[in-house]
Amino acid sequence: MLTLDLPRLERDGALSIEATVSRDDPLWNDSGLRFDGGVEVAVQASVAGTGEFVVRVEVAGRRLAECRRCAETVQRPIDLEFIWVFGEPREEQEDDGGVRVVAADAVDLDLGPVLREELILELDRWIVCRAECEGLCPSCGVNLNEMTCDCSSDEPDPRWDALRALKTE
Ligand SMILES: [Zn+2]
Ligand SMILES: [Zn+2]
Repeated sequence: MLTLDLPRLERDGALSIEATVSRDDPLWNDSGLRFDGGVEVAVQASVAGTGEFVVRVEVAGRRLAECRRCAETVQRPIDLEFIWVFGEPREEQEDDGGVRVVAADAVDLDLGPVLREELILELDRWIVCRAECEGLCPSCGVNLNEMTCDCSSDEPDPRWDALRALKTE
């Protein structure tokens, strides 16, 4: 689905692909990524003067993640753009300049694994549903956004005592 036909790309000089990767696609297995609906991927590949393949990828969709304070599922839009360069291994250079290696005789270039890896790096695993999320009570575990519990005391946090002392001086 996200496979570039390299001989065709070399012949035509450019190639584009549009695909929707299903939320259930095996590509996401064990990635820790969850989506609400499919992930739309638009690929524009071209051959650079140096013979490398330059692949511009736009990704749009909605992801699901757990709020790190209250554990509620949160939906967030995804709107990302990546530029990947694929080329043959360059032996003369220590630094590969960010070029991803593709075998000289490769016919198909599957962008799926690269997309998966980039999304794992790019998308924060832990997010907060909202800045003022109260989280869960550390004692009884209730969601403090929804209810209060008896464990929450009004005792001042001892960590602030020093600060308060400074202020009143
Ligand atoms: Zn939350
Ligand atoms: Zn509690």
